[in-house]
Amino acid sequence: SGLQADAASAARIPGPLKARLFANENPFGPSSIAKKAMIDCMDNGYQYPFMLLKDLEAKICAYEGIDANMLMTSAGSSPLLLGSAITLLSNGGNIVSADPTYDDLPTRCEKIKATWIKVPLKPDYTHDLDAMEKAITAETKLVYICNPNNPTGTIVDVAKLKDFCERVSKKVPVFVDEAYIDYLPDPAATTLIDGVKKGQNIIIARTFSKVYGLAGLRVGYVIAQPAMIELLGHYAAAGGYALSLPAITAALASYNDKAYIDEVKKKMEASKHFLYETLKSEGYSYIPSYTNFVMFPLKMEGQRFVEEMYKREVGLRNWKLNNQDWCRISIGRMDEMQAFATAFKELS
Ligand code: PLP
Repeated sequence: SGLQADAASAARIPGPLKARLFANENPFGPSSIAKKAMIDCMDNGYQYPFMLLKDLEAKICAYEGIDANMLMTSAGSSPLLLGSAITLLSNGGNIVSADPTYDDLPTRCEKIKATWIKVPLKPDYTHDLDAMEKAITAETKLVYICNPNNPTGTIVDVAKLKDFCERVSKKVPVFVDEAYIDYLPDPAATTLIDGVKKGQNIIIARTFSKVYGLAGLRVGYVIAQPAMIELLGHYAAAGGYALSLPAITAALASYNDKAYIDEVKKKMEASKHFLYETLKSEGYSYIPSYTNFVMFPLKMEGQRFVEEMYKREVGLRNWKLNNQDWCRISIGRMDEMQAFATAFKELS
Protein backbone atom coordinates (compact mmCIF):
# COMPACT_ATOMS: atom_id res chain seq x y z
CA SER A 1 0.00 0.00 0.00
CA GLY A 2 0.97 3.65 -0.18
CA LEU A 3 1.77 3.77 3.48
CA GLN A 4 3.81 0.58 3.31
CA ALA A 5 5.71 2.00 0.36
CA ASP A 6 6.39 5.09 2.45
CA ALA A 7 7.69 2.92 5.25
CA ALA A 8 9.83 0.97 2.78
CA SER A 9 11.40 4.10 1.35
CA ALA A 10 11.89 5.40 4.88
CA ALA A 11 13.70 2.18 5.78
CA ARG A 12 16.13 2.69 2.87
CA ILE A 13 17.21 6.09 4.12
CA PRO A 14 20.91 5.82 4.95
CA GLY A 15 21.03 8.60 7.51
CA PRO A 16 19.18 11.60 8.84
CA LEU A 17 17.12 13.60 6.36
CA LYS A 18 17.20 17.34 5.88
CA ALA A 19 13.71 17.14 4.44
CA ARG A 20 11.13 14.45 5.23
CA LEU A 21 8.72 14.94 2.37
CA PHE A 22 7.46 11.43 1.60
CA ALA A 23 4.51 10.73 3.92
CA ASN A 24 2.18 13.78 3.75
CA GLU A 25 2.68 14.52 7.41
CA ASN A 26 2.27 17.87 9.10
CA PRO A 27 5.79 18.93 10.11
CA PHE A 28 4.42 21.64 12.42
CA GLY A 29 3.38 18.79 14.69
CA PRO A 30 0.84 18.72 17.52
CA SER A 31 -0.29 22.12 18.85
CA SER A 32 1.37 23.36 22.04
CA ILE A 33 -1.96 22.89 23.85
CA ALA A 34 -2.03 19.23 22.72
CA LYS A 35 1.57 18.68 23.80
CA LYS A 36 0.95 20.11 27.27
CA ALA A 37 -2.21 18.03 27.66
CA MET A 38 -0.27 14.88 26.76
CA ILE A 39 2.42 15.56 29.34
CA ASP A 40 -0.24 16.25 31.96
CA CYS A 41 -2.09 12.97 31.22
CA MET A 42 0.88 10.71 31.94
CA ASP A 43 -0.04 10.02 35.59
CA ASN A 44 -3.21 8.37 34.32
CA GLY A 45 -1.28 6.17 31.92
CA TYR A 46 -2.25 3.05 33.86
CA GLN A 47 -5.96 3.57 33.07
CA TYR A 48 -7.81 2.24 30.04
CA PRO A 49 -8.97 5.41 28.35
CA PHE A 50 -12.62 4.41 27.82
CA MET A 51 -14.12 7.45 29.51
CA LEU A 52 -11.86 9.95 27.83
CA LEU A 53 -12.63 8.37 24.47
CA LYS A 54 -16.34 8.89 25.17
CA ASP A 55 -15.55 12.59 25.67
CA LEU A 56 -13.78 12.78 22.31
CA GLU A 57 -16.56 10.88 20.57
CA ALA A 58 -19.19 13.12 22.17
CA LYS A 59 -17.32 16.19 20.95
CA ILE A 60 -17.16 14.87 17.37
CA CYS A 61 -20.83 13.82 17.42
CA ALA A 62 -21.95 17.19 18.78
CA TYR A 63 -19.97 19.10 16.15
CA GLU A 64 -21.17 16.96 13.26
CA GLY A 65 -24.74 16.62 14.56
CA ILE A 66 -24.74 12.81 14.52
CA ASP A 67 -25.71 10.10 17.00
CA ALA A 68 -23.04 8.13 18.86
CA ASN A 69 -23.95 4.96 16.96
CA MET A 70 -22.87 6.59 13.67
CA LEU A 71 -19.25 7.03 14.77
CA MET A 72 -16.34 4.64 15.13
CA THR A 73 -12.90 5.76 16.29
CA SER A 74 -9.61 3.95 15.90
CA ALA A 75 -5.84 4.36 16.00
CA GLY A 76 -5.74 6.45 12.84
CA SER A 77 -8.13 5.87 9.98
CA SER A 78 -6.02 3.02 8.51
CA PRO A 79 -7.54 0.28 10.74
CA LEU A 80 -10.98 1.45 9.60
CA LEU A 81 -9.97 1.30 5.93
CA LEU A 82 -8.75 -2.24 6.55
CA GLY A 83 -11.89 -3.10 8.57
CA SER A 84 -14.07 -1.87 5.71
CA ALA A 85 -12.18 -4.01 3.20
CA ILE A 86 -12.57 -7.12 5.37
CA THR A 87 -16.20 -6.40 6.23
CA LEU A 88 -17.40 -5.68 2.73
CA LEU A 89 -15.13 -7.70 0.42
CA SER A 90 -14.18 -10.86 2.28
CA ASN A 91 -16.72 -12.81 0.24
CA GLY A 92 -15.20 -11.61 -3.04
CA GLY A 93 -16.65 -9.13 -5.47
CA ASN A 94 -15.00 -5.93 -6.56
CA ILE A 95 -14.12 -2.45 -5.39
CA VAL A 96 -14.27 0.52 -7.78
CA SER A 97 -11.88 3.46 -7.34
CA ALA A 98 -10.06 6.11 -9.29
CA ASP A 99 -6.53 5.47 -10.55
CA PRO A 100 -4.25 6.72 -9.17
CA THR A 101 -5.67 7.16 -5.70
CA TYR A 102 -4.70 6.27 -2.13
CA ASP A 103 -4.36 2.55 -2.66
CA ASP A 104 -4.41 1.20 0.89
CA LEU A 105 -8.06 0.11 0.97
CA PRO A 106 -8.19 -1.29 -2.61
CA THR A 107 -4.94 -3.24 -2.20
CA ARG A 108 -6.26 -4.73 1.05
CA CYS A 109 -9.28 -5.89 -0.97
CA GLU A 110 -6.98 -7.51 -3.51
CA LYS A 111 -5.14 -9.32 -0.69
CA ILE A 112 -8.41 -10.96 0.32
CA LYS A 113 -9.01 -12.02 -3.29
CA ALA A 114 -11.47 -9.33 -4.34
CA THR A 115 -11.00 -7.49 -7.64
CA TRP A 116 -9.97 -3.87 -7.93
CA ILE A 117 -11.61 -1.99 -10.80
CA LYS A 118 -9.43 1.05 -11.53
CA VAL A 119 -10.99 4.00 -13.32
CA PRO A 120 -8.43 6.48 -14.71
CA LEU A 121 -8.61 10.09 -13.56
CA LYS A 122 -9.78 12.65 -16.12
CA PRO A 123 -7.18 14.64 -18.07
CA ASP A 124 -7.40 17.33 -15.38
CA TYR A 125 -6.47 14.65 -12.78
CA THR A 126 -9.86 14.73 -11.05
CA HIS A 127 -12.16 11.76 -10.44
CA ASP A 128 -14.19 10.63 -13.47
CA LEU A 129 -17.43 10.06 -11.59
CA ASP A 130 -19.42 9.17 -14.72
CA ALA A 131 -16.93 6.48 -15.69
CA MET A 132 -16.81 5.21 -12.11
CA GLU A 133 -20.58 4.86 -12.03
CA LYS A 134 -20.51 2.96 -15.32
CA ALA A 135 -17.77 0.69 -13.96
CA ILE A 136 -20.01 -0.56 -11.14
CA THR A 137 -21.17 -4.15 -11.68
CA ALA A 138 -23.53 -6.53 -9.87
CA GLU A 139 -20.44 -7.77 -7.96
CA THR A 140 -19.35 -4.33 -6.75
CA LYS A 141 -19.23 -4.27 -2.95
CA LEU A 142 -17.71 -0.83 -2.39
CA VAL A 143 -16.83 2.37 -4.23
CA TYR A 144 -13.83 4.25 -2.84
CA ILE A 145 -13.41 7.99 -3.37
CA CYS A 146 -10.53 9.93 -1.90
CA ASN A 147 -11.44 13.62 -1.74
CA PRO A 148 -9.12 15.51 -1.90
CA ASN A 149 -7.28 12.79 -3.80
CA ASN A 150 -3.92 11.39 -2.80
CA PRO A 151 -1.50 11.49 -4.72
CA THR A 152 -2.79 14.21 -7.07
CA GLY A 153 -4.05 16.78 -4.52
CA THR A 154 -7.15 17.41 -6.65
CA ILE A 155 -10.79 17.70 -5.55
CA VAL A 156 -14.03 16.58 -7.16
CA ASP A 157 -16.90 18.93 -7.89
CA VAL A 158 -18.90 18.76 -4.63
CA ALA A 159 -22.36 19.03 -6.21
CA LYS A 160 -21.51 16.19 -8.62
CA LEU A 161 -20.10 14.06 -5.83
CA LYS A 162 -23.22 14.60 -3.72
CA ASP A 163 -25.44 13.55 -6.65
CA PHE A 164 -23.19 10.57 -7.30
CA CYS A 165 -23.35 9.43 -3.68
CA GLU A 166 -27.09 9.88 -3.44
CA ARG A 167 -27.64 7.68 -6.53
CA VAL A 168 -24.86 5.13 -6.16
CA SER A 169 -25.23 4.53 -2.41
CA LYS A 170 -28.67 3.07 -3.09
CA LYS A 171 -26.90 0.19 -4.87
CA VAL A 172 -23.54 -0.07 -3.13
CA PRO A 173 -21.81 1.60 -0.17
CA VAL A 174 -19.58 4.56 -1.03
CA PHE A 175 -16.44 5.13 1.04
CA VAL A 176 -15.37 8.80 0.99
CA ASP A 177 -11.87 9.23 2.42
CA GLU A 178 -11.67 12.82 3.66
CA ALA A 179 -8.19 12.57 5.22
CA TYR A 180 -7.09 15.90 3.69
CA ILE A 181 -10.38 17.79 3.83
CA ASP A 182 -9.21 20.02 6.71
CA TYR A 183 -6.79 21.75 4.33
CA LEU A 184 -9.65 23.10 2.20
CA PRO A 185 -10.90 26.64 2.82
CA ASP A 186 -14.37 25.33 3.76
CA PRO A 187 -14.34 21.64 4.78
CA ALA A 188 -17.98 21.79 5.95
CA ALA A 189 -19.08 22.68 2.40
CA THR A 190 -17.17 19.73 0.93
CA THR A 191 -17.79 16.88 3.35
CA LEU A 192 -20.28 14.15 2.50
CA ILE A 193 -21.36 13.81 6.14
CA ASP A 194 -24.67 15.46 5.21
CA GLY A 195 -25.37 12.48 2.97
CA VAL A 196 -24.87 10.12 5.90
CA LYS A 197 -27.21 12.26 7.98
CA LYS A 198 -29.84 11.92 5.24
CA GLY A 199 -29.61 8.13 5.58
CA GLN A 200 -27.35 7.42 2.58
CA ASN A 201 -25.07 4.38 2.69
CA ILE A 202 -21.81 6.36 2.80
CA ILE A 203 -18.77 5.77 4.99
CA ILE A 204 -16.75 8.93 5.69
CA ALA A 205 -13.18 8.55 6.96
CA ARG A 206 -11.41 11.32 8.85
CA THR A 207 -8.05 11.52 10.56
CA PHE A 208 -6.12 13.58 13.09
CA SER A 209 -2.91 12.65 11.23
CA LYS A 210 -2.89 15.55 8.83
CA VAL A 211 -3.82 19.12 9.80
CA TYR A 212 -3.74 18.26 13.54
CA GLY A 213 -0.20 16.88 13.27
CA LEU A 214 -0.94 13.64 15.17
CA ALA A 215 0.15 11.00 12.61
CA GLY A 216 2.53 9.40 15.11
CA LEU A 217 -0.09 9.40 17.86
CA ARG A 218 -2.82 7.66 15.80
CA VAL A 219 -6.41 8.90 15.95
CA GLY A 220 -8.99 8.59 13.18
CA TYR A 221 -12.66 7.78 12.74
CA VAL A 222 -15.43 6.90 10.36
CA ILE A 223 -18.98 8.23 10.21
CA ALA A 224 -21.61 5.93 8.67
CA GLN A 225 -25.08 4.45 9.14
CA PRO A 226 -25.54 2.71 12.54
CA ALA A 227 -25.96 -0.67 10.79
CA MET A 228 -22.65 -0.18 8.94
CA ILE A 229 -20.87 0.90 12.14
CA GLU A 230 -22.21 -2.24 13.82
CA LEU A 231 -20.90 -4.39 10.93
CA LEU A 232 -17.48 -2.70 10.91
CA GLY A 233 -17.27 -3.33 14.64
CA HIS A 234 -17.05 -7.08 14.02
CA TYR A 235 -13.64 -6.70 12.37
CA ALA A 236 -12.11 -3.28 12.91
CA ALA A 237 -9.80 -2.70 15.86
CA ALA A 238 -11.65 0.24 17.31
CA GLY A 239 -12.57 2.12 20.46
CA GLY A 240 -11.04 2.09 23.92
CA TYR A 241 -8.68 -0.83 23.39
CA ALA A 242 -7.31 0.54 20.12
CA LEU A 243 -6.54 4.14 21.02
CA SER A 244 -3.95 5.21 23.56
CA LEU A 245 -4.48 7.74 26.33
CA PRO A 246 -1.99 10.35 25.00
CA ALA A 247 -3.47 10.06 21.52
CA ILE A 248 -7.05 10.65 22.72
CA THR A 249 -5.84 13.46 24.98
CA ALA A 250 -4.08 15.18 22.08
CA ALA A 251 -7.09 14.77 19.79
CA LEU A 252 -9.45 16.19 22.42
CA ALA A 253 -7.17 19.18 22.95
CA SER A 254 -6.80 19.81 19.19
CA TYR A 255 -10.24 19.13 17.76
CA ASN A 256 -11.50 22.23 15.93
CA ASP A 257 -8.75 24.40 17.41
CA LYS A 258 -9.30 27.03 14.75
CA ALA A 259 -6.33 29.18 15.70
CA TYR A 260 -3.97 26.23 15.36
CA ILE A 261 -5.52 24.97 12.13
CA ASP A 262 -5.26 28.45 10.60
CA GLU A 263 -1.62 28.72 11.67
CA VAL A 264 -0.76 25.32 10.14
CA LYS A 265 -2.56 26.16 6.91
CA LYS A 266 -0.83 29.54 6.65
CA LYS A 267 2.65 28.05 7.10
CA MET A 268 1.81 25.19 4.75
CA GLU A 269 0.58 27.60 2.05
CA ALA A 270 3.78 29.67 2.37
CA SER A 271 5.89 26.52 1.89
CA LYS A 272 3.71 25.42 -1.02
CA HIS A 273 4.04 28.81 -2.68
CA PHE A 274 7.83 28.56 -2.34
CA LEU A 275 7.69 25.11 -3.95
CA TYR A 276 5.56 26.36 -6.86
CA GLU A 277 8.03 29.22 -7.47
CA THR A 278 10.98 26.81 -7.34
CA LEU A 279 9.35 24.46 -9.83
CA LYS A 280 8.41 27.32 -12.18
CA SER A 281 11.89 28.83 -12.09
CA GLU A 282 13.38 25.43 -13.02
CA GLY A 283 10.93 25.05 -15.93
CA TYR A 284 8.66 22.42 -14.34
CA SER A 285 4.88 22.28 -14.23
CA TYR A 286 2.75 20.83 -11.41
CA ILE A 287 -0.81 19.84 -10.61
CA PRO A 288 -2.28 22.69 -8.54
CA SER A 289 -2.93 21.14 -5.14
CA TYR A 290 -5.68 21.58 -2.54
CA THR A 291 -3.64 19.65 0.01
CA ASN A 292 -0.29 19.46 1.76
CA PHE A 293 1.39 17.62 -1.13
CA VAL A 294 2.03 18.34 -4.79
CA MET A 295 2.60 16.16 -7.85
CA PHE A 296 4.85 17.32 -10.65
CA PRO A 297 6.12 15.62 -13.82
CA LEU A 298 9.81 14.69 -13.82
CA LYS A 299 12.38 15.00 -16.56
CA MET A 300 14.26 11.88 -15.53
CA GLU A 301 13.42 8.33 -14.51
CA GLY A 302 11.38 8.45 -11.28
CA GLN A 303 13.25 5.90 -9.18
CA ARG A 304 16.58 7.48 -10.10
CA PHE A 305 15.29 10.92 -9.19
CA VAL A 306 14.14 9.72 -5.77
CA GLU A 307 17.48 7.98 -5.15
CA GLU A 308 19.45 11.06 -6.16
CA MET A 309 17.30 13.18 -3.87
CA TYR A 310 17.75 10.72 -0.98
CA LYS A 311 21.53 10.99 -1.49
CA ARG A 312 21.02 14.71 -0.91
CA GLU A 313 19.01 13.91 2.25
CA VAL A 314 15.66 14.83 0.75
CA GLY A 315 13.01 12.11 1.01
CA LEU A 316 10.11 12.05 -1.46
CA ARG A 317 8.23 9.62 -3.69
CA ASN A 318 7.81 8.85 -7.36
CA TRP A 319 4.79 7.70 -9.38
CA LYS A 320 4.15 6.46 -12.88
CA LEU A 321 1.10 8.13 -14.45
CA ASN A 322 0.12 8.34 -18.12
CA ASN A 323 3.54 6.91 -19.13
CA GLN A 324 5.20 9.79 -17.39
CA ASP A 325 7.38 9.82 -14.28
CA TRP A 326 6.07 12.02 -11.48
CA CYS A 327 7.24 13.14 -8.08
CA ARG A 328 4.89 13.52 -5.13
CA ILE A 329 6.37 15.94 -2.63
CA SER A 330 4.80 16.57 0.75
CA ILE A 331 4.81 20.16 1.94
CA GLY A 332 7.33 20.58 4.74
CA ARG A 333 8.64 23.43 6.86
CA MET A 334 10.32 26.23 4.93
CA ASP A 335 13.81 24.93 5.80
CA GLU A 336 12.81 21.56 4.31
CA MET A 337 11.50 23.19 1.13
CA GLN A 338 14.75 25.12 0.86
CA ALA A 339 16.72 21.86 1.25
CA PHE A 340 14.56 20.42 -1.51
CA ALA A 341 15.17 23.45 -3.76
CA THR A 342 18.96 23.25 -3.32
CA ALA A 343 19.05 19.52 -4.12
CA PHE A 344 16.55 19.87 -6.98
CA LYS A 345 18.57 22.62 -8.67
CA GLU A 346 21.62 20.35 -8.68
CA LEU A 347 19.64 17.71 -10.56
CA SER A 348 17.54 19.77 -12.96
N1 PLP B 1 -6.37 8.10 3.79
C1 PLP B 1 -5.53 8.80 3.04
C2 PLP B 1 -6.02 9.41 1.79
C3 PLP B 1 -4.20 8.95 3.41
O1 PLP B 1 -3.35 9.63 2.63
C4 PLP B 1 -3.76 8.36 4.62
C5 PLP B 1 -2.36 8.48 5.06
O2 PLP B 1 -1.52 9.06 4.46
C6 PLP B 1 -4.68 7.64 5.38
C7 PLP B 1 -5.99 7.54 4.93
C8 PLP B 1 -4.32 6.93 6.64
O3 PLP B 1 -3.98 7.81 7.62
P1 PLP B 1 -4.12 7.50 9.17
O4 PLP B 1 -4.14 6.02 9.38
O5 PLP B 1 -2.92 8.12 9.76
O6 PLP B 1 -5.40 8.16 9.60
